Amino acid sequence: MPLRFYNTLTQEVEDFAPMDGRTVRMYTCGPTVYHYVHIGNLRTFTFQDILRRWLRARGFQLNHVMNITDVEDKIIRSAMQQGKSLNEYTAVYEQAFIEDTKTLRLEAPERLVRATEHIDEMVEAIGTLSDKGFTYESDGSIYYRISKFAGYGKLSHLDVSGIMAGARVDVDEYEKADARDFVLWKARKGDEPFWDTKIGPGRPGWHIECSVMAMKYLGETLDIHAGGIDLAFPHHENEIAQSEGMTGKQFVRLWLHSEHLIVEGQKMSKSLGNFFTLRDLTEQGYQPEAIRYLLASVPYRKKLNFTMDGLRAAATSIDRLRNFKLRVDTEKFADGHNEAIAARSRAALEQFEKSLDDDLNTAEALAAIFEYIRDANSAMDSGEFRGGNCADANAVLSRFDSIFDVLTATVAESGISDAEVDAFIKERQDARKARNFKRSDEIRAELLERGVVLEDTKEGVRWKRK
Ligand SMILES: [Zn+2]
Repeated sequence: MPLRFYNTLTQEVEDFAPMDGRTVRMYTCGPTVYHYVHIGNLRTFTFQDILRRWLRARGFQLNHVMNITDVEDKIIRSAMQQGKSLNEYTAVYEQAFIEDTKTLRLEAPERLVRATEHIDEMVEAIGTLSDKGFTYESDGSIYYRISKFAGYGKLSHLDVSGIMAGARVDVDEYEKADARDFVLWKARKGDEPFWDTKIGPGRPGWHIECSVMAMKYLGETLDIHAGGIDLAFPHHENEIAQSEGMTGKQFVRLWLHSEHLIVEGQKMSKSLGNFFTLRDLTEQGYQPEAIRYLLASVPYRKKLNFTMDGLRAAATSIDRLRNFKLRVDTEKFADGHNEAIAARSRAALEQFEKSLDDDLNTAEALAAIFEYIRDANSAMDSGEFRGGNCADANAVLSRFDSIFDVLTATVAESGISDAEVDAFIKERQDARKARNFKRSDEIRAELLERGVVLEDTKEGVRWKRK
């Protein structure tokens, strides 16, 4: 089965391959660094991580660019309120974003680029659009005249026939009902930060930054552009108008949008007390792997209902996976190779891959893995699983984990190293041999305190991190 994705632009599921057959040129809208990112943003970034990993698993190379929006309405408002420069204000949240992505094991894109470092290119792009007659000026600001671009509305499937020509909008974010000529360059205002340029003193609008940085690093036509569904309008619609206005060529072949995340059935909002950053959750003791698992487990085009029960269930699922891995690694199986079980492993892998090929159906991919684990566990219980089948099981687990990446536990900073655990286990065995059960119990308790669970089995002591 070919690799297929739903394209927001055509509203169809299409076969995918990069234009040059080898390297996927992909742009994703990064964070606006005015605050810590919330779990709704992280759902989008987690989807993009699964996308990256699956494209690579399918043999493609990646050239992925993500922007950091470090000049924008909300940033300017917050920085001015705190009496800080843009740089001072955004550096903290940019760093926090990078830390959060590491905590969630999100791969870094090949290039992470800041808007404020591309002002000259944006000025050039606005000049090109002006030369081609797509812009007009009003009070020192420059606007994009959407009636000049015949394709306006094609991504968000918006009927633009009733839109008032010449009505303008200055803010970076607005609703479909307010489709208007949007601002490319905002005239200097009061004490706001500005750049002195040949198109006048001011600052760029939000939309032009993505067109400019995407095309600078990836060329005029990209293979994939992805983002959250709330960016489809106006942001991505405006990116198309700008980029195709400049080049006359198709800007993006495949547009991917991830659905909203809600919390306990409700829209996430500060006033409802259900607004979470990653830090809020890890401080409450939830493991990052469980958060990653929950965010990845719902196919990206489905709304995700994020609940505390769901987080606990994710942790239980991860336990099942790790317990199975532990069994494969430590249990003694009879010699030989059971061909029926090897065939079962191959079928599980095939189902896993087919599911991800199908527009990244992560729920089905996970189901394939858990059905396999259930079958393999019962084959182990009945003695049909042989030593030679461990390699088959490990092939399934490593393919799974190259995408979902939850098998290894995050070691807390106050945590304990593997060598220390081994030393404790040795000491405990010596204590038991000497019938010093008090010391043996103390060691078990101390390890548990530090997040390590011991399990005494016929074959000796196994341990794992909680
Ligand atoms: Zn963008």
